[in-house]
Amino acid sequence: MTERLRQRDKAALWHPFTQMADWEKDVPLIIERGEGNYLFDTEGRKYFDGVSSLWVNLFGHGRREIDEAVRAQLDRMAHSTFLGLSHPPAIELAEKLLAVAPPGLSRVFYSDNGSTAMEIAIKMAFQYWRQQGGGTEERREFLTLSEAYHGDTIGSVSAGGIDLFHRIFRPLLFSTHRVPAPHCYRCPYGLSRPSCALFCAERMEEEVRGRKDALAAAIVEPLVQGAAGMLLMPEGYLARLRAVTRECGVLLICDEVATGFGRTGTMFACTQEGVSPDIMAVAKGMTGGYLPLAATLATEDIYRAFLGRYEEFKTFFHGHSYTANPLGCAAAIATLSIFGREDVLTRVSRLGGAMERELAELSGHRNVGEIRRKGLMAGIEIVADRATRERFPPGEKIGQRVVRKVRERDVILRPLGDVIVLMPPLSSTEEEIRSLVRSASWAIDAVLGGEHSPT
Ligand SMILES: *Cc1c(COP(=O)(O)O)cnc(C)c1O
Repeated sequence: MTERLRQRDKAALWHPFTQMADWEKDVPLIIERGEGNYLFDTEGRKYFDGVSSLWVNLFGHGRREIDEAVRAQLDRMAHSTFLGLSHPPAIELAEKLLAVAPPGLSRVFYSDNGSTAMEIAIKMAFQYWRQQGGGTEERREFLTLSEAYHGDTIGSVSAGGIDLFHRIFRPLLFSTHRVPAPHCYRCPYGLSRPSCALFCAERMEEEVRGRKDALAAAIVEPLVQGAAGMLLMPEGYLARLRAVTRECGVLLICDEVATGFGRTGTMFACTQEGVSPDIMAVAKGMTGGYLPLAATLATEDIYRAFLGRYEEFKTFFHGHSYTANPLGCAAAIATLSIFGREDVLTRVSRLGGAMERELAELSGHRNVGEIRRKGLMAGIEIVADRATRERFPPGEKIGQRVVRKVRERDVILRPLGDVIVLMPPLSSTEEEIRSLVRSASWAIDAVLGGEHSPT
């Protein structure tokens, strides 16, 4: 039966971010059931969901409260348009989102995935300045970071900076004012901490001040540049970006699509530096990993710039067929009530500690360049040479080989290049976290040999 499904898959499908020539030769897993932190394939084999089904799942599969909320909503209505109509779950969810959002955000604009939530953020910021008057039409540029990832639609790709994904589309993209990502392991300025005194932040401030009247907004993934390989922002950088954008009257857009909903230890990552953005995009974890739903939150000031007489056409002309899908809203309300009922954030901090202790065992491995972790987001960067930090040639497919190997230990992972990502559900136990790290470690040894060098 499984073999037949594999053949049918290979005959009819095209998978995302997948070299299909490899896929056609592979023996792909076909997942048919989820329960708690585990997935089951069609052969009945059970796997730990080590990347939360690509960073979306928070409280496990088949979580009773979320299942029931979705079923109850299904009994009422699966979907009705949000263009010119409203519905109770969208209203309730908006209030609940605003109650946990960083201070100052007061409006919720729904969509259905992280890329479109960012697309909306960019268009909102752009149109905001067009409708302000007083010469603000000049503000049409965006400041972005290298290595950024904001999704796969053309606007989000324009704001992105991962050459591997984005280079080919360059001719289609609008240009942005890009500053080097503050990535300490591979510092773009060749400096090291703490003697650098956060030179990267100084340079970023100079760039913002230098483009002061041209910038519409700065766009950032707060604290963790996820898709770039779990790059961690040095402490203080985000707060300085907020301060300088405020000083220069530039909007700040925080992309909390990956970091939101407790993943980094706080509800949203930006609050760890006391930062409130003008616009914030959320998606991934919002429905607990159940359904595609996203939102772009904005301040009242931004919202008000779109008010006017009908014929002035200050309307935000953007919307999707499935904007604010009620089933998704019901799942998200149930997800947020779990945060309200259980002390999820304390749990994440405890689990993060357990993960850190277990990861420390790996830090001496001769092919482990750096281990980066924030809350329950972690990346193990594999390098060919620890001293020079040289990478393996891409053709070695180290990351892919490690995650393929770790399946033998009943764990599902997905790498980012040669960074092994660990992002377990927030509902994991300490023992599951330790076992996850040990399995990853075992797979790295199995692929690369297990020599540890003294640190
Ligand atoms: C995943 C991700 C996106 C895109 O979200 P999709 O739902 O996959 O479109 C945008 N920004 C960040 C930071 C992400 O991690």
